Order: sequence, then C-alpha cells, then structure tokens
Amino acid sequence: MKRIGILNLWLGALAILALFGCATGQATAGQAYAGKMIDAHSHPRKQDNEILARHFADAAKAGIVRIIVMRTPNDYRKSKRDELLGRAARFPNVTTLCSPDFIGHLHQGRIERARAEVAKIRQDLAAGRCAGVGELGLRHYDKRWARGGGQAEVIVPLDHPLVHAVLAAANKHGVPVLLHIEPVYRPRSIDNLARVKRWYKKVCRIYPRARLIALHTGMMSPPDLEEILLSCPNLFADFKILHSRGSVIGFADLHGVNDLGFRFFGHWTAMFEKHPDRFIFGSDWKEGRGGGYRDRSYRKHIARVREMIGALPRSVQKKLAYSNAKMVFRLP
Ligand SMILES: [Zn+2]
Repeated sequence: MKRIGILNLWLGALAILALFGCATGQATAGQAYAGKMIDAHSHPRKQDNEILARHFADAAKAGIVRIIVMRTPNDYRKSKRDELLGRAARFPNVTTLCSPDFIGHLHQGRIERARAEVAKIRQDLAAGRCAGVGELGLRHYDKRWARGGGQAEVIVPLDHPLVHAVLAAANKHGVPVLLHIEPVYRPRSIDNLARVKRWYKKVCRIYPRARLIALHTGMMSPPDLEEILLSCPNLFADFKILHSRGSVIGFADLHGVNDLGFRFFGHWTAMFEKHPDRFIFGSDWKEGRGGGYRDRSYRKHIARVREMIGALPRSVQKKLAYSNAKMVFRLP
C-alpha cells in the first residue's frame, strides 16, 4: 500500500511537471513533434522509379506531407540522374524545382549551355512546371577536405548576368530561389562573409517578389543571418540536422545548428524563437547515396528531427516544420 502511495505521488508530480511544461511552451523530454511536416530540401540519388516510390512512401509514413526535390550544385556532372526530376514530379506528395545546372556549366566556362539552361528555367517557371529554382551553389567548396578531399567545387561570380536573369525570373513569378553560398572556407583562408551579406541585402531589394532562401541557415552565425533577415523581408533560411561525424567536420566553419547528441544549440533555438516565420526545415537528405548514407534510414532521421523540433518552444514547432515552407513555396 505504502509503495503504491509513493508511486501515485510520483505520477502526480510528473503530471504537474508535464502540465507546467505545456503551459510555458517548453517541451519536456520525449514529446516529439507529431504534426504535419514538409521536407523542403531533398536530393534523391537514384532515379529508378521503384526506389523513388519507396522513398516517397517512406516520407509519407514519416508524416512528411510534401517533399521538395531538387538537383544539387554538382548534379550537372551526373547524366545518370537526368530523368530524376521528371519522374519525381509524378508523385502526388512531391514538388520539384527548376534545375540549377546553369551554375555548374558557368563554373566550367560553358556559357552557351548555361544560357540554354536559363532559357529553360524561364519557360518552366512560366508554364508552372517547377515551384522555384534550386539548389544554386554559387559558392560550394570541398567540404571533404579534412577527410582527404574529393567534393567537386562550384564557384561563380555572385553578380553574373545569368544569376541575375534567374533572380529576375523568380521575381516575375514570385517563387523561391534556393541559394547555397558558403561565405568562408577555412582550409584556404577564404572569408567573403561581408561581401556575401552585402550581396543578399542588395538582391533582396532588387527582386522583392522573389523569395530568397539562404540554405543551411545561410552558413553564417545567428547575428550575421539576423542582419540580412532584418534588412530583407523576402529572405528565409532553411536548416538541416547534421547527422554524421563527416557532415559535422565539413560544416566546422559553417555554423551547423546541432550537436551529435541531436540537440539544437541554444543560440539557434533563440534565433528560431526570435524569427519564427523565417526558418524552414530542409533535410538535405541524399537517399540512395553510398558513404555515410548506406546504413541510414530517412524515417529514423525524421523521427529524430521530430524529437528535436518537439524540444523547441511550442509556439515555433509547426511554423518550422510545416507552415513556413507551405507559405514560401505556395504549396497546396
Ligand atoms: Zn542540398
């Protein structure tokens, strides 16, 4: 009897703690976010129909109501994925973006090819065949340097006329442009942070109807990102969860949002709370890739993301997981 009494006391105390947690908007451990989610940044690596079907079904099972599929800055090199966007677009829970390949061709000096790609972006946006343009890797360095290197780099002038042509097209149609711009690269002592911030502030003003998304939370510190958020009402930032030691090493100078215990850093939690309408979850998941992805499951990853989002203040959870992406990408 006495034991049961103590047990009841404990249960009562836990219930009060849980209630208190809800009332203050603080999630208690174990309360994963259980609502709808959008994954606004996805790169399947295999274009086989069955593999795609399995992946998108997995996403649906994980409560991802929509997954935004796009090519990476380096996909222009991979002809074996040429059919991927077209095939992905046929799935009901998938939205695709216009190809960013012109950036890669520019980087290689193939200007005519790049021009043709930009003409296609204009046509596809006008016809509503894609919901935006991405992922544009204007500054994409070798993030495998610490492991011997090997990631192909893409670097083009931020103000190249074709970059502006695409921003103008996005402005005309009021759609997002997803920008991967690494402001610093420590292995070669490159620091363009001030320039990159100035560039964002300039283009957001020239193209006010375009929705600019600074990927991976701009790859800058919260105060630097905040500076451009404050001067650009049409700028948003996506965040991914770094899920392997390799990705953490690659992001060492790029301000990742989490540690490998899968907790958000306090300075990022504070930013999410301060600017709850500006952040979008985008996994950057590369389903079907070898290397660090071989033993990893997207569903398990999303389950972990749900736990992390569940630990954020309740007022921001749905916005980061779902509503902001729905609004920025004008999703149904
Ligand atoms: Zn990406």
